[in-house]
Amino acid sequence: MASIEMKNIVKRYGDGFPAVNDVSIDVGDGEFMILVGPSGCGKSTLLRMIVGLEDITDGDMVIGGKRVNDLAPRDRNLSMVFQNYALYPHLTVYENIAFPLRLAKGKFTEDEVTARVKRAAEMLELNEHLERKPANLSGGQRQRVAMGRAIVRDADAFLFDEPLSNLDAKLRGQMRTEISRMQRRLGTTTIYVTHDQTEAMTLGDRVAVLKKGVLQQCASPRELYEQP
Ligand code: ADP
Ligand code: ADP
Repeated sequence: MASIEMKNIVKRYGDGFPAVNDVSIDVGDGEFMILVGPSGCGKSTLLRMIVGLEDITDGDMVIGGKRVNDLAPRDRNLSMVFQNYALYPHLTVYENIAFPLRLAKGKFTEDEVTARVKRAAEMLELNEHLERKPANLSGGQRQRVAMGRAIVRDADAFLFDEPLSNLDAKLRGQMRTEISRMQRRLGTTTIYVTHDQTEAMTLGDRVAVLKKGVLQQCASPRELYEQP
């Protein structure tokens, strides 16, 4: 686990108005931080700078006390879950979840891979579906496979980019409960982008509000939604 400190982070695409403008947020070790704001306010850009998929124009990104601005994504030890799940269609559920372990060539024995995949699948109630392909799963099951892939290795933090936005209301409710449960069990530092007020209220320790690339507020859900 690790804290994530964003210090005066700026992102400029070309010479227009900055997509992210002088944003400073400290996410504590084990904290669950929600990121909200209207479409185009810079949420995805911020997540991508944290994982290293986007260069940082200015400011410091500090993860676990170490400045990571110049580190490649694979050297940051973070797990990201995308909105569109990004599963491999030709691989089974088992192999989709095992994928990050296979990437760390030679680091995990076959027995360790099996044990870790089984543990993740159990936590997400996927044990009965391990031999299926993504095409034969429901939306909620696919989303769980994407989460399984995120938790199968010991990442320092999780980054979620609207992971439930493609699900219907009922599944979203179930997944919300599951994410809560997973969070209590793992206690991993998390940054979670959402448009859903219920998710923000129930999952977050704190909620950061972005508007046009600028941080407006960062407070507990209670403080945020109970203010006049
Ligand atoms: P959000 O995730 O909150 O919807 P984004 O981070 O996707 O916001 O976008 C923030 C701003 O940056 C928007 O104005 C968007 O058009 C712009 N933007 C995002 N990605 C790129 C890119 N690759 N090139 C140029 N502009 C981009
Ligand atoms: P989101 O709903 O997460 O904000 P978008 O639909 O805005 O996603 O963007 C999807 C992809 O398109 C992102 O990878 C982003 O980098 C890219 N993108 C967004 N805005 C622009 C832009 N103005 N120019 C180039 N690429 C962009």
